[in-house]
This record gives sequence, C-alpha cells and structure tokens, in this order.
Amino acid sequence: MTNVDLHCHSTVSDGLLAPRELVRRAAANGVEMLALTDHDHLGGLAEARDEADALGIRFVNGVEVSVSWGGLTIHVVGLGVDAANIDLAQGLAAVRQGRDLRALRMADSLAASGIRGAYEGALRYVGNPALVSRSHFARWLVEKRYARNVANVFEHYLLRGKPGYVEHQWCALEEAVDWIHSAGGVAVVAHPGRYRMSGDERDRLFAAFKTLRGDAVEVVAGAHDHAAVREYARVARKYGFAASRASDFHGAGESAVDVGRAAPLPPDLEPVWERLAA
Ligand code: AMP
Ligand code: MN
Ligand code: MN
Ligand code: MN
Repeated sequence: MTNVDLHCHSTVSDGLLAPRELVRRAAANGVEMLALTDHDHLGGLAEARDEADALGIRFVNGVEVSVSWGGLTIHVVGLGVDAANIDLAQGLAAVRQGRDLRALRMADSLAASGIRGAYEGALRYVGNPALVSRSHFARWLVEKRYARNVANVFEHYLLRGKPGYVEHQWCALEEAVDWIHSAGGVAVVAHPGRYRMSGDERDRLFAAFKTLRGDAVEVVAGAHDHAAVREYARVARKYGFAASRASDFHGAGESAVDVGRAAPLPPDLEPVWERLAA
C-alpha cells in the first residue's frame, strides 16, 4: 500500500466536498486507502464507503475528536471505528452539543468588534447543522472581505486572543481514547505540529497519550514541514507509536495539501494502516 490518506473532511463537518465527491477526488489522485475523518461526526461514512466500494479503493471509518487537554485544544483521530458503537456515538453527541452555543458566543464577540451578522453568515456555509465550526465563520469573513483568505482570517479573528475566539470545553483526552477503543478503533494524535506547545508540554501530552494506550501519531500531516515530520518521527520511535499519513484536506484552494498528496512516511516507522483490519 503506497498511497494512503487517513485524514480528510467532507461537508458533514467543515470540508467543501460531499463525502461521495471527496472519495472521487481521492481516487483520481491515486489514493488506495482512505479514511474520512469529519470533526465529531460519523454521518458521512456510509456514503463515502459506498463510493469507495464502487471505485475499488479501500475505505476506513474515521472521526476527528475535539479534546481539551492542559488548556489546549487537541484533535484525536479514531481510525477503523465501528460506526454503530454506542459509546462512541454518545460521546460524539456530547462533544457536539456545545457547538451551536459556542457559535452564538463567537458571533457576539465579533459583534462587539463591529462585525455583525456572523452567526447567520456562517450558517450559510454549514453543511450539517450539528456541526458549526470556525471554518464556516472563516469562509463568511472572507466573503465579507475581512481578510484575503481563510488562513488570514484565523490569524486575525479566530485564534485565541482574537475577537472571534471564545474558550470552549471539549471532551477529555481519556474519553476520546476510550470511545475510540470501545468502538474497536485506533487512536491517533492529529497534526501535533499545529499545537502551540512547549517541548515540555509536548512530552507530557505524548506520555499521557501512551499511558492511556494511545496508538499512533500523525507524523506526516498537511500542516507539517520537514522539521515537524522529523520531530514527530522521533516521538513515534521514542514511545513506540505507529505513524499516520494525513493530508487533512478540506477543499481545493483552502488546503495546502490535496487528498493523497502528503509526503511519504519515513521508512523505518510502523504505518498505522498495518494495524487496521482488512
Ligand atoms: P473548530 O473545531 O470549530 O474549532 O474548527 C477547527 C477547524 O478550523 C480546523 O479543523 C481547521 O479546519 C480550521 N482551522 C483551525 N486553525 C486554522 C488556521 N490557522 N488556518 C486555517 N484553518 C484553521
Ligand atoms: Mn477542520
Ligand atoms: Mn484538526
Ligand atoms: Mn482535520
């Protein structure tokens, strides 16, 4: 298996393509094994699997769970999960619950800086009412020309300390790992290079993840440069984690890396897909 992509998004969360279209794009890009990993939601998996079966590519059920850990927001990807598992379904429902209220608070906060109508504006970009995300606000803010592009909007409006940012409590790391394991999946720390962690925080995160029997780390991720790949390859070796390869594709023009186009894994690491049952 050479072209494996175990992290991407559809309109069920904050991607720009419907699950079926996303799978078609992956197949056109030569992907042999794909996981759809929408934020906190499993609603796109059946459609994506149906299309992957039709196109003859291997499909892996996935999800990207939002976690609060040590004052940071961390994302944990679950791969190979049983979408019918009740612990996971109930856990994700609980994680999603605060999203709408958070969106209203984000809009209030933006209004206080003179940007009105952000909630209604963001909703026009939402594909799934249960999943309002900062990306939907970002798209509306770009439309209204508050910034040039989505990356710029985050920098000026949506990151911690900026007008549209509100603190939010997601689930605990232990809960995310337990729900994923309970559903028969493997738990993967997503894009660690994106968290604003000190070296000390990084070590504590991975030590905690190991203690919880976490399985893998995204060594290659859309957001990782060469230095980050080297750094998280070292983390994988140190803790005995398997390694994942992840574009984190959301849509053309918005994502740095297209689906299936992330760099290859360093050859000495154990690919996490070898742990996913056929
Ligand atoms: P949320 O779960 O609602 O907080 O939204 C998080 C999503 O926002 C991530 O999954 C990314 O798609 C997007 N995002 C976060 N930070 C950035 C950034 N700096 N630039 C572009 N998109 C980002
Ligand atoms: Mn996203
Ligand atoms: Mn993420
Ligand atoms: Mn993602």
